[in-house]
Amino acid sequence: MTAPDKRIMRVRDLGITFRTEDGDVRAVDGIDFDVDEGQILGLVGESGSGKSVCTRALIQLLPSTAKLDPDSRMELSTADGMVDIAKLHRRDKRLQSIRGGEIAMIFQEPMSSLAPTYRIGNPIMESAMLHRDITKKEARTIALDLLERVGISDPETRIDQYPFELSGGMRQRVMIAVALASQPRLLIADEPTTALDVTIQAQILDLLRELRDEFGMAIIFITHDLGVISQIADDVAVMYLGKIVETGTVREIITDPEHPYTSKLLEAIPRLDRLNERLTAIPGDIPSPLARPSGCPFHTRCDVAIAGRCEVDGPSPIEISPSHFVSCHLHDKESEASNV
Ligand code: SF4
Repeated sequence: MTAPDKRIMRVRDLGITFRTEDGDVRAVDGIDFDVDEGQILGLVGESGSGKSVCTRALIQLLPSTAKLDPDSRMELSTADGMVDIAKLHRRDKRLQSIRGGEIAMIFQEPMSSLAPTYRIGNPIMESAMLHRDITKKEARTIALDLLERVGISDPETRIDQYPFELSGGMRQRVMIAVALASQPRLLIADEPTTALDVTIQAQILDLLRELRDEFGMAIIFITHDLGVISQIADDVAVMYLGKIVETGTVREIITDPEHPYTSKLLEAIPRLDRLNERLTAIPGDIPSPLARPSGCPFHTRCDVAIAGRCEVDGPSPIEISPSHFVSCHLHDKESEASNV
């Protein structure tokens, strides 16, 4: 267990519902997780699992049709003590300083985040000046240093170039430099390598780990790819239809998955040592959140579902080890045994 003073973020009972013309969509259904200093937490699941929605909630970057459950808590440790982001008004100055300050975010497609007519040094300098008490000259020095740290060669020239003059991998490095300029305590990386080819992807993953080691910030890394998670994360939370169904260290999740959904995600990863074996796709599609299944949300796709049980009762988290929890009725016996 981590010492409380190492805790950066504590999320409890986070629930998010979207109002749509077709009815309410339950995107995140009462989830809990913690993020500690220097930790890389991988949030994994198919699209529609709620992973991006839940992290956007951490900086209140949700559309106005989204509604937080009233008892949701998203407590951020700051120099002034704990701040519950769920309780801050959207226009609260404290929220503005947290967003892009203590918590920074990078997205999948850097081209959409970088203004095409803006030199790449500008957003880095602006981020530094917005969150730190420095002059423009000092901000340029910081921008040059950050460009070098994220592996951009010849930063003196690059700083005055436009995004279209850079490759996709370089633009993602620039976005990481923008995020780091505010010296965040928590970096949210939402599928930051999905649009990049595998070699550049590996470089960006290495870079994020190095920067975590150097700056001590925590990272929430969102992806649909457990293969990528295995390369970067310390701990993993697997999401399905708005719920966290399994959490553990990366080793526990990759080598000893206990939830049928996690096992299926792993079976869907191509492996060089099993080129002759067919990849197993997860049967069926993730159900529409407008028609959430009763009981265990995975029961419509689970080939080991317990008839009469799984479609009726939603499972609660069961402890496999102090760091490993799973929500699945197949483990009910373990929880009964531990209660004896
Ligand atoms: Fe499958 Fe039942 Fe476990 Fe859900 S609770 S994952 S349906 S066995």
